[in-house]
Amino acid sequence: MEVVALHLKQTETCPEPTGGHRLWKLLDRHVKSRGIKVMVSTPTKELVKNDRGEIIGVIAECEGQEIFISAKKGVIMTCGGFENNQKMKSENLNPKKDIGLLGSPGNTGDGIKMVQLDETALQLTIGKYNHLCCNGVDSDFGRKPDTLKAIAPPYYAMQLMPLLYNTQGGPRRDKQARVLDPDGNLIPRLYAAGEFGSIWGFRYQTSTNVSECLVYGRIAGKNAAMSD
Ligand SMILES: Cc1cc2nc3c(=O)[nH]c(=O)nc-3n(C[C@H](O)[C@H](O)[C@H](O)COP(=O)(O)OP(=O)(O)OC[C@H]3O[C@@H](n4cnc5c(N)ncnc54)[C@H](O)[C@@H]3O)c2cc1C
Repeated sequence: MEVVALHLKQTETCPEPTGGHRLWKLLDRHVKSRGIKVMVSTPTKELVKNDRGEIIGVIAECEGQEIFISAKKGVIMTCGGFENNQKMKSENLNPKKDIGLLGSPGNTGDGIKMVQLDETALQLTIGKYNHLCCNGVDSDFGRKPDTLKAIAPPYYAMQLMPLLYNTQGGPRRDKQARVLDPDGNLIPRLYAAGEFGSIWGFRYQTSTNVSECLVYGRIAGKNAAMSD
């Protein structure tokens, strides 16, 4: 950290502001010195491809008009993520609540939508997968050969997502199964067992929940029964 701070420090020989400002100036200087045309307020709407599936340009909107911008070599998409698209965040991040925006308001997932459900890409993917199945070697993901089954239409799709079958959180308890408040004080006549305030936390290993239920259930029951 000291070394970085030393380099970024403003000095008489380096009087300019530091960090992001300096990085931006560097990039901006290169854009200008190379005569790169920048079109602001011109959102890209669509990728355009030729018969061979090659991307040859984009359709963009400029001052209310749709324009075609042809690409000499190709199109580079740098239109950020989807942090300002509530629907995509809900669908892809599975949040418990709405997630707010801290980044760029322009990042509404346009680019992801433009390349989603690309028929050509889907055909290529299936073709490649079937080819790997024929060869019996999955060089992409290393699946076991006996799981490599070629697929043919009709296709069915399903959404895959991580699933959660239980959680370990909750109030802490002591070894007598007595529940503690956030300050670590006993809450009189309150006991807990099992997953509710599980002792495993992030260290959960398969099957330990049930044994915890039994052990702590017994302790809690015994202590509750013995209290006056
Ligand atoms: C608060 C904050 C702190 C961060 N701190 C760090 C850090 O310390 N270090 C680090 O490495 N990274 C950090 N990041 C992340 C980093 O800033 C981003 O990953 C990076 O800026 C992304 O750059 P980008 O060019 O891919 O996209 P962005 O900089 O997000 O730019 C995408 C641009 O595309 C535009 N756009 C969207 N759709 C279209 C469309 N259809 N047509 C035309 N334009 C479109 C958007 O308006 C936006 O201007 C931070 C981010 C935030 C928000």
